[in-house]
Amino acid sequence: MTSLSELPIRDDLRGREPYGAPQLDVPVRLNTNENPYPPSPRLVEALGRAVADVAGGLNRYPDRDAVELRKDLADYLGHGVTARQVWAANGSNEIIQQILQAFGGPGRSALGFEPSYSMHPIITRVSGTEWIDAYRDEDFGLEAERAVAAIEEHRPDIVFLTSPNNPTGTSLPLEAIEAVLAVAPGMVVVDEAYAEFRREGTPSALSLLPGHPRLIVTRTMSKAFAMAGTRVGYLAADPAVIDALLLVRLPYHLSAVTQAVARTAIAHQDELLGAVEALRAERDALVGWLRGEGFEVADSDANFVLFGRFPDRRAVWQGVLDRGVLIREVGPPEWLRVSVGTPEEMAAFRAALKESV
Ligand SMILES: *Cc1c(COP(=O)(O)O)cnc(C)c1O
Repeated sequence: MTSLSELPIRDDLRGREPYGAPQLDVPVRLNTNENPYPPSPRLVEALGRAVADVAGGLNRYPDRDAVELRKDLADYLGHGVTARQVWAANGSNEIIQQILQAFGGPGRSALGFEPSYSMHPIITRVSGTEWIDAYRDEDFGLEAERAVAAIEEHRPDIVFLTSPNNPTGTSLPLEAIEAVLAVAPGMVVVDEAYAEFRREGTPSALSLLPGHPRLIVTRTMSKAFAMAGTRVGYLAADPAVIDALLLVRLPYHLSAVTQAVARTAIAHQDELLGAVEALRAERDALVGWLRGEGFEVADSDANFVLFGRFPDRRAVWQGVLDRGVLIREVGPPEWLRVSVGTPEEMAAFRAALKESV
């Protein structure tokens, strides 16, 4: 036995902490923004059949380029996106890693606007790329001038914009994204993991793809699609961007089982996305309830809500957990984040919170 500190690990990894949202076995889990509705028995059966169909060919490597899956994802995205513009990987985290491998690396930098998704800086640094913190506005929005100023100051090779943003729920107007595209010297990644939960009238950056070959829009099947366990994320971009990612991806990175399960899920998108409407309504009700209770609440276009403020948020988080409800201690110091669950789960959360503050 030895310890990590005694291993000849890379100097820049020394002292780092692994990503670690707690995975606790409690009755109500509202901490990682999953869709709370499991697949129906009918879909479970279809998924089983799809896996059985590929099982007989598992002695062979899978389709290396996941062509059929990319076609399905392109059709799902719409906006005129074609399979040549789509790339898929094991979660959008792997997509982000491949983007960093192709466009970042030693001597290069990536910039994001905090508070935002913690994996952007983690994956950036692990790829040997420098991470630069810029900041959102007081209300968690991002004024175009502020974004442009940060980019002009730092000239990053990659800019991350998360919309709707995690952990705040805030989405960006297209004007802000266009302003960033106009001045960014390198690639611009718009992380749209929560796109399906946007409120009416909130646009997607997909509409900016024509004419912007350095724009990458990332999506995932982990949230609205209710397939977090499948591990499929994807992106839409200019076909040349996919050519770049082909240089860094591991061969056969997406297993035949993953591809089959993802394609089956997409074929059943009506069922899987059927809960999105209900989750958005539940989210809006939650925002209203929290405000009614006197909390500060960030506007949300996602399936979670950031609320505060708590001088001792750890105590509130623990109080809620002691009542069987796991939420997330994340974001600015005095705030907590709760994912939107089923009506029963939200009732449990509301009761637990009231007893904990
Ligand atoms: C959850 C999340 C992801 C998704 O990660 P997967 O690897 O696809 O599960 C990506 N970006 C943001 C902002 C997220 O919150």
